[in-house]
Amino acid sequence: MTAKSPRYVTCTRCRARVLEVRDDYQLGVLIGTPLLDPVALQQLQVVACVITGVQLWQIHEHAGKHVTSSRSRWWPRRPVDGYIAPVHRCGHTWDAPALDLKPDEVVYPDQPPF
Ligand SMILES: [Zn+2]
Repeated sequence: MTAKSPRYVTCTRCRARVLEVRDDYQLGVLIGTPLLDPVALQQLQVVACVITGVQLWQIHEHAGKHVTSSRSRWWPRRPVDGYIAPVHRCGHTWDAPALDLKPDEVVYPDQPPF
């Protein structure tokens, strides 16, 4: 599976710096182009998002790169690796530490399957 790391882009509506999700690591299928607010939510904020229906993404490392996995409303029941970031909403600011991921490195071709 080829996992694509999220990348920083500028929201075309509010000019905020957001994280563009390019891969759903767990589902393998990405619907649309989700934009995330690049913050690391605390557990209470995560719970609040689940209650209010804000979609959450887990940003975690796999094989040395950051991958993103969408999360359902039944999650989280237990701590997970990495960070939890909310879907971007223009004009909304979070009282949470900013996420500063490494920019994309050089992309190497996948290993041939033999
Ligand atoms: Zn925006």
